[in-house]
Amino acid sequence: MHTKLIFATNNQHKVDEIRAVTGNLFDIITLKEAGIDIDIPEPHDTLEANATEKSMTIHRLTGENCFSEDTGLEVAALDGEPGVKSARYAGDARDFQENIDKLLHKLQGLTDRSARFRTVISLILNEKEYLFTGVCEGKISGSQKGLQGFGYDSVFVPDGANKSFAEMTMEEKNLYSHRKKAVTQLIHFLSQKNA
Ligand code: IMP
Repeated sequence: MHTKLIFATNNQHKVDEIRAVTGNLFDIITLKEAGIDIDIPEPHDTLEANATEKSMTIHRLTGENCFSEDTGLEVAALDGEPGVKSARYAGDARDFQENIDKLLHKLQGLTDRSARFRTVISLILNEKEYLFTGVCEGKISGSQKGLQGFGYDSVFVPDGANKSFAEMTMEEKNLYSHRKKAVTQLIHFLSQKNA
C-alpha cells in the first residue's frame, strides 16, 4: 500500500520537482487536492522553524501525515542573505523578478559570487517530526539566463554545471538540486520505516 503524504505547499513548481523524484513510491497530495486553501505563515527566522510551522499547521488541520519544505538562497558575500527571507527579499509582494533585481544590484562589483540553496523538509509521520536537509552549492551569475523553473533559478549556476537552473529541464535540475537531495533523504527514511 502506498503511503499518503500531504505536501504543505501552494507552489506547483515544488510539487512537480518532488513528484519527479518520488515517482510512484508514495502518494503526494497537494493542498489543493486536499481541499485546503490557506496561505501558510512563515514567520520565523530559520528555515527549520518555518518548515516545522508549515507541516504542523497542515497536520493540525487534517490530522494526516504530511511534510513541508522551506528553502533559502544563502549568498556568501551578503552574509547569508536573502536566506530565510528569500521569498520576500524585495518586499511582501513576493515578486521573483524584483527579488532577482535586488540581489543582482547588491552583488554589483563584488567578485565573490558564491551561494548555496538550502532546503529543509519537515515530515510529520505518526505524530512525530523528522527534519531533512539538502544543500546545492553554486554561483550567482551576472545576468539572468533561461526561462524554466522559478524564483532565483535564472541567476543560479550550480557547481559542476555551465548553465543556470532556468536553462535546465527539471530532470537536469534534479541532478544538482537542494530539494532533490532533501527529498532523497526523506525517501530513504520512509523506505527504512517501511512506511
Ligand atoms: P519558500 O519560502 O521555501 O517557498 O522559498 C523561498 C523563495 O526561495 C522562493 O520564493 C523562491 O524565490 C526561492 N526558491 C526556493 N526554491 C528555489 C529553487 O529551487 N530555485 C530558485 N529559487 C528558489
